[in-house]
Amino acid sequence: MPHDLPKAYDPTAIEDRWAEFWVSEKLFAQPTPAPSAANAQNQGPEGQSDGKSSGQLPFVILLPPPNVTGRLHMGHMLNQTEMDILTRWRRMSGRRALWLPGTDHAGIATQMMVERQLTEEGTTRQKLGREAFVDRVWEWKRHYGGAILSQMKRLGASVDWQREYFTMDEHLSVAVREAFVKLHEQGLIYRGAYIVNWCPRCQTAISDLEVVYEEHKGHLWEIRYPVLDAAGNDTGEFLTVATTRPETMLGDVAVAIHPEDERFLHLHGKMLRLPLVDRQIPVILDEWVSREFGTGAVKVTPAHDPNDFAIGERHHLPSINIMDDTAHINAEGGVYAGLDRYVARKKIVADLEAEGLLGAVKDYTNNVGHCDRCKTVVEPRLSTQWFVKIQPLAEKAIAAVKPDANGNKAIRFTPEMYEKTYLNWMENIHDWCISRQLWWGHRIPAWHCATCHKITVARVDPTACAHCGSDTITQETDVLDTWFSSGLLPVSVFGWPNLTPQTRADFDAFYPTSLLVTGFDILFFWVARMIMLGCWFAGDVPMPDGSPRSLADSVPFRDVYIHALVRDANREKMSKTKGNVIDPIEIVKQYGTDAVRFTLASMASPGTDIAFNVARTEGYRAFANKIWNAARFIFMNVDRAAEIGIVVDRSTLGRMPSVGADAPLEARWIVAELHVTATKVNQSLENYRYDDAANTIYQFFWGSFCDWYLEIVKLRLDFSVQQVSESVYDENPPAKSIALTAYPKAAETIDNDALLGMSLLQSLIVEVRALRKEIGVEEKASTPVEVRIGSGMQAVLANNCDIVERLARASHVDFVEQIAAGLPMHSASAFDVAVIYEKKIDAAAERERLTKDIAKYEKGLASAERQLGNEAFLSKAPAQVVEGLKKQESETRLLLDKARAALAALPKD
Ligand SMILES: [Zn+2]
Ligand SMILES: [Zn+2]
Repeated sequence: MPHDLPKAYDPTAIEDRWAEFWVSEKLFAQPTPAPSAANAQNQGPEGQSDGKSSGQLPFVILLPPPNVTGRLHMGHMLNQTEMDILTRWRRMSGRRALWLPGTDHAGIATQMMVERQLTEEGTTRQKLGREAFVDRVWEWKRHYGGAILSQMKRLGASVDWQREYFTMDEHLSVAVREAFVKLHEQGLIYRGAYIVNWCPRCQTAISDLEVVYEEHKGHLWEIRYPVLDAAGNDTGEFLTVATTRPETMLGDVAVAIHPEDERFLHLHGKMLRLPLVDRQIPVILDEWVSREFGTGAVKVTPAHDPNDFAIGERHHLPSINIMDDTAHINAEGGVYAGLDRYVARKKIVADLEAEGLLGAVKDYTNNVGHCDRCKTVVEPRLSTQWFVKIQPLAEKAIAAVKPDANGNKAIRFTPEMYEKTYLNWMENIHDWCISRQLWWGHRIPAWHCATCHKITVARVDPTACAHCGSDTITQETDVLDTWFSSGLLPVSVFGWPNLTPQTRADFDAFYPTSLLVTGFDILFFWVARMIMLGCWFAGDVPMPDGSPRSLADSVPFRDVYIHALVRDANREKMSKTKGNVIDPIEIVKQYGTDAVRFTLASMASPGTDIAFNVARTEGYRAFANKIWNAARFIFMNVDRAAEIGIVVDRSTLGRMPSVGADAPLEARWIVAELHVTATKVNQSLENYRYDDAANTIYQFFWGSFCDWYLEIVKLRLDFSVQQVSESVYDENPPAKSIALTAYPKAAETIDNDALLGMSLLQSLIVEVRALRKEIGVEEKASTPVEVRIGSGMQAVLANNCDIVERLARASHVDFVEQIAAGLPMHSASAFDVAVIYEKKIDAAAERERLTKDIAKYEKGLASAERQLGNEAFLSKAPAQVVEGLKKQESETRLLLDKARAALAALPKD
């Protein structure tokens, strides 16, 4: 039998096979267009050669590259489900669709992973040396780096695997280098001392965005600084400061007070003696000081606090860095040198107390920054870093999102509120620190000269200093922030910077991309960086016709959709500490990919978090099962039709079906319903209403197609009439895969008569079924039905009486002027309907059934009573078990009473 589907629906068996087929057949590959054809014509999917699709822009979407160290989590699952739905929908609707996958080298995360391995082996990266360490990371990547993309393959993501990239690939590294050198040439990259968030474990600067703040119960220590006279002797007066990090006092260079603070003004211009260090430091005035906080006098440590750094700049104070890369006190800390920051803190507090210089110690809760990767407390610390001057990049990135003079936006955010969030951040942005003190990543292409101490930045590794010609040059040891390279992806994956007339077909065809789907958590990290770098670098690339590129065509994407969070069933955020993390792969193993993705889609809409509930997934597995069974039924009957000589018209396959006006009502109706559904689904997807689209499809397939249409078709099988279901699909695909057929699109006119007629028929059947239930008609009994209906509508019912008779178990339908008095009746706006039925009971059979039931209940009751009377059992059994047993006992007693009463009420024969 050609259409033999296994009886049971087993998602794992099907999904593995098709996912593999999609990859091996390169089904979703979108090759580079021929240069002349770029950006001109789009080919529709196979089987759709009607030309309607030409002239449409391609649909291009970049997968936010997961970390190469990553494993798929629920957030990925949602985000990829949404991207896959949109890409497949656009592809099947005739657009040249490209979903482009890749992974990120993830500087800190990957380095940490390999360092952990080294620790287990009893060695360190320092012992290994930079080159060997980097080789080792590459080796790790070759072995384990493909895991997350393999998971995506298994889940059938319709990406173009031929274009898979890794952010450290050769051609992408060229782009990173070009971007750095160009920005440097443009005077937009500089090197400077700045307060950075320093992670003493990772031993690198980390971005503000990579610092997570946690409430921390600590103390506020007050320290008394002796006031000196002109000769440098203690006056006996003190100025008291307050701090949460007393060890930083070693780096104090001043104490600041507010210029209007009467309490301390007399001290302005005086010197203080810094305790333990015996350094003389001035009292200065600065408006930034809050008179209400602490004591109102602020110790100034420019090398260890961003605000103090700003004060230091304003007052031309020196910066004294007192810590090394591992947050141990350095030589500047005198006797405390070599101590860990927290050990030093204890000792300093003790020493101050011993000298009588410790004031009050108050409990104090503050927000302490931790490294997002390793959770170590971050140390604000002065260090020399590389920066991107953020203007005019940010200016362009703002213009790209704000409406222009005509109210048009080059980039649109959905939900719209994120536009404000983005603009607010971009308007307050600081210069971007792009250097990281890691070994894994794109090493900064800058060389330091030992002779003239100048820096050479170059596209090709230099052999001599560009300034003095000396060959004693060494490359910068820092690497670039990972977001610097991922921020370039929209231009670099399409060939920038090597855009020659021969190579630029990809760029012309696919840039700007259409849409970015991503989470809020990387809005600033990544989305903002892509907009800045995309607008900046693509702006220099002329349009395919040679004209200059406008800002609207320089943007990396035209739409941004920020998806919601997936929470647990109780709407709690998933977290490892709470133990409520759902592993998507586990759920997929249990219910199948389709059920999991359908669950997510059915709840996904802009701005609404998803409470993921496994019970719902179970329901959608049943839906998948329903589809399976419907397909089996259709295939079986296609064969039956073929056996009796009915030939399927293959020219209609893969297209929206149509039927003639003389076709049976249910055929006309289901076609009209399909067209209505197509309109709704297409509109929903236009508006990112995945939930509406999913629910509409569910209603159509389960409600209309299975519950009504197939039920009616089964009745009609006697005539072998099946115009619609068989033209939907005959298992001989019109394209290489059903994934490449045309997406349903509604016809201009819909058969409203069929919709109305069927709706009348349905409500009549529903009312008859309800009536039968109410008056207790036995399920299998057929009964006559009386209907009063206006003459205009009667014909539809009369022509389809067979459907009512079979689906509502009517023995026949009588059309009457008036429903006979006394009959149980239901009314709808268009009709009244009554069921004629006299209840007959088979007393003998009923007596037998009740007698059996009574025996069963008596036995159950006796057993429960025995257990509840057993002291030994009661003393050992858990309270829950005893409770359950008691409940069972009382329920059984109730059922027994009811059965006995029913038996007594039976007529005697
Ligand atoms: Zn860290
Ligand atoms: Zn030099």
